[in-house]
Amino acid sequence: MAVMTTRSCPCGLPGPYEGCCGRFHAGAGAAPTAEALMRSRYSAFVKGDAGYLLRTWHPRTRPQRLDLDPGTRWTRLEVLETTAGSAFHTTGTVTFRASYRGGSLQERSRFERLDGAWVYVDGDFLD
Ligand SMILES: [Zn+2]
Repeated sequence: MAVMTTRSCPCGLPGPYEGCCGRFHAGAGAAPTAEALMRSRYSAFVKGDAGYLLRTWHPRTRPQRLDLDPGTRWTRLEVLETTAGSAFHTTGTVTFRASYRGGSLQERSRFERLDGAWVYVDGDFLD
């Protein structure tokens, strides 16, 4: 039986983590679009990387500290809609569904480009 040695990135894109969200987590580059940043933040939730989540949070809305619930098992991310958020924009939104064991949530997140790098501002939960 074949053993899978390469796991795809938690964000749902087909490539391995190291070449996807992992390089942003490692500080080897900044997410080029609001969607890429959102995906990398989801992956940071999966990996329990609170430092990355705080680093990519707008200083205006960033919490003092972030306690991730280690009991939450994130299982899937689906990006449902994006507006703006490319290299040509300074703001953007990403609407997504994040599934975890036992449920899912939908949020429309707002992002801004701050000194060239995308950061998370805030979001609205959707029913
Ligand atoms: Zn990824």
